[in-house]
Amino acid sequence: MPPRKRPEAQLDLLVARADPGRSAAIAALTPAQRDDAIVGQLVAWFELVARDLPWRRRRDPYAVWLSEIMLQQTRVETVIPYFNRFLERFPDVEALAGAEIDEVLKMWSGLGYYRRARVLYATAREVTARYGGNFPGEAAALRELPGIGAYTAGAIASLAFDQREPLVDGNVARVFARLFGIDEEIRTTGAVKRLWEIAWRLVPEERPGRFNEALMELGATVCTPRDPQCGACPLEALCVARASGRVMELPRIDAKKKVPVVKMVAVVLRRGPLVLLARREEGGLFGGLWEPPMVEAASIDEARALLAAVGVGPAIELREAGNVKHVLSHKELRVAVVAGTIPGKTKAPAVLGAPYEKAAWLHPDDAEIGVSTLARKVLAAAGGT
Ligand code: SF4
Repeated sequence: MPPRKRPEAQLDLLVARADPGRSAAIAALTPAQRDDAIVGQLVAWFELVARDLPWRRRRDPYAVWLSEIMLQQTRVETVIPYFNRFLERFPDVEALAGAEIDEVLKMWSGLGYYRRARVLYATAREVTARYGGNFPGEAAALRELPGIGAYTAGAIASLAFDQREPLVDGNVARVFARLFGIDEEIRTTGAVKRLWEIAWRLVPEERPGRFNEALMELGATVCTPRDPQCGACPLEALCVARASGRVMELPRIDAKKKVPVVKMVAVVLRRGPLVLLARREEGGLFGGLWEPPMVEAASIDEARALLAAVGVGPAIELREAGNVKHVLSHKELRVAVVAGTIPGKTKAPAVLGAPYEKAAWLHPDDAEIGVSTLARKVLAAAGGT
C-alpha cells in the first residue's frame, strides 16, 4: 500500500511549530560540535537508506559525470533508462567522443535541455584529446572542461577520486538554508558564498564523496521543497528552521519575473508514412534537432503566407490540428499546429531559411535523428508520429 500522505494542515503544524527547547539545545553546541554532529548523523543515516541507483554501482568519473549532467533539471526516474541505454551504447568517454553528434542527440531525445547533450559531447572530445580519455582528478582541472561547473567538478572529484571537495546544488542549498537558518534570498552572491563556505567546512577528509552524496540524498528524499519529512530527518535535532518553525519559509526565493510568451505556428505535412522535418541550425535553440517546420507568427494565416514564401505548404489544404504549450527557462512557446497531406512524390523544399539548415521527408522515429520534446508534442497534436 502506498504511504499515506499527511494532510496539509498536519504538515504545516509540524514544520511551522517553534520549539524553544530545541533552539536552546542547538545554541548550546559549539560550531565545531554541531558540524561534527551533522556529518556523523547524516552519513550514518545514508548508510541505512541510500537508494540503489545505477550510477552508484560504479564510481568511475565517466559514470558520475554522465549521471550528474543527466540529472540537471531532470527527475531520477526519468534519467535511469537514459543513463543505462547511454552507457550501453557509449561505455566510456572515448566511445562517446568517437560517435556522431546526431547519434548522441538521438540517444538524448526526450530528456530535454538538449544543450546538455552537445556540451557532453564537446567535453568527451576534449577529455579524449587532452587527457587520453581519462578525466583529471582535481576539481580545478575539471572546471576547465566545457559544461563542468563548481558543483559537477565537486561531485566528480569527491565521488570518483575521493578528493575533499565540496558541492552545492539546489537540493544542498535548500538543506543548508533550513539547517543553518539562512534568511537571505538564496540566489544572491552573498548567500551563494555562504553556502559554499558551509559546504567547505563540513566536507570531511574521510570519504568526502559519501558525505556529499548523503547531503544530496537528504535534499532529494527528505528535505524536499514542499513536503519536508522533518520527523524522519536525521538532522531534526540540529535544524534551525525546524526549531524556529520556519521550515516552509526557507529557503527564501523571491518570485521570478514572468517569462515572455511567444506565439508560433507549426506545420505537420505528411507524405504517406513520412513527415516533412527540418533540422535546426547548430548553435541556437534546439540546435541540430529535427522538427516539423515552425515559424513565429500570431495567426495561422500569417504563418501560411510565411511558409508559402519559403516553399512549405503552398496551395495545400491545411487543417487546424490543436495547440501545444512548451515552457522553456526563458520563454513560453504557444504553438498552433496545422496539418496537411501532400501528394506522392513531392520533394522536400531545398531552402527553408533560418533557423533551419535543411529539410527532408523522414519518419520521426528514424533511429538516426534527434527530435525535441516540443517536436514530439507537435506531432502528437497532429495525430501521432
Ligand atoms: S529537520 Fe526538516 S527542514 Fe531541517 S533539514 Fe531535516 S527535513 Fe530539512
